[in-house]
Amino acid sequence: ERAREVLESAKRRDTNSLGVEAMDLLSAYGIPIPEGEIVDGETEAREAAERIDHGDGVVMKIVSPDILHKSDIGGVEVGVPAEEVADTYEDLVTRARNYQSDATILGVQIQEMLDLDAATETIVGMNRDPQFGPLVLFGLGGIFVEVLEDTTVKVAPVSEPEARAMIDEIESAPLLRGARGREPVDEAGVVETIQRLSQLVTDFPAILELDINPLVATPSGVSAVDVRLTID
Ligand code: ADP
Ligand code: MG
Repeated sequence: ERAREVLESAKRRDTNSLGVEAMDLLSAYGIPIPEGEIVDGETEAREAAERIDHGDGVVMKIVSPDILHKSDIGGVEVGVPAEEVADTYEDLVTRARNYQSDATILGVQIQEMLDLDAATETIVGMNRDPQFGPLVLFGLGGIFVEVLEDTTVKVAPVSEPEARAMIDEIESAPLLRGARGREPVDEAGVVETIQRLSQLVTDFPAILELDINPLVATPSGVSAVDVRLTID
């Protein structure tokens, strides 16, 4: 139900590109997301940051359907301390305006700061192939996704054994499984996320494309930190 609402509100806004404002779509399908809120204005930003800051500051991201790669335009700031939240809010909006003066700006997302020390950034995505239908993709995420192109795909719906096999299939699998004395990440969490995304796109044919990038995988769990989707 919540998932349907998210998609319908996008339709009402007459946009087919959604970003972190669609985070609830993921949590409606049981995919873990970081604590976060979208705010409109410095005061709201400060109040939200106070609630969300667990001691390492917060992450702030511009929320705009016109900005696909937020960090490329300086639209993501990590580890923002309380006293810099208001200024950062202004900076993010200014950078978005400089990038595209008529960009639709929905606000700024204030997100819980995750500890990426023991984490691996992965990507879980989907796009519809005219011949095969919905293809679910898994691979190494974050800034590495383009550079290393270490990804694998399966046709949705993806079964549990298939989701497990997807992890085996990428070259960076050892990175997830504790290479070089690293602690292995929550592989079951990754497998579940692949399956849940597969279920989501099977239930909603209107979703043409969806990327969770990154899905942060840590030894204690996974978290979908960023999402982008295109709807019909
Ligand atoms: P975009 O892909 O649009 O540039 P992301 O939301 O993916 O924006 O953020 C870019 C990068 O910032 C991520 O790949 C990650 O390394 C870091 N990051 C984003 N959100 C968080 C967070 N909540 N905690 C820690 N690091 C984060
Ligand atoms: Mg991203």
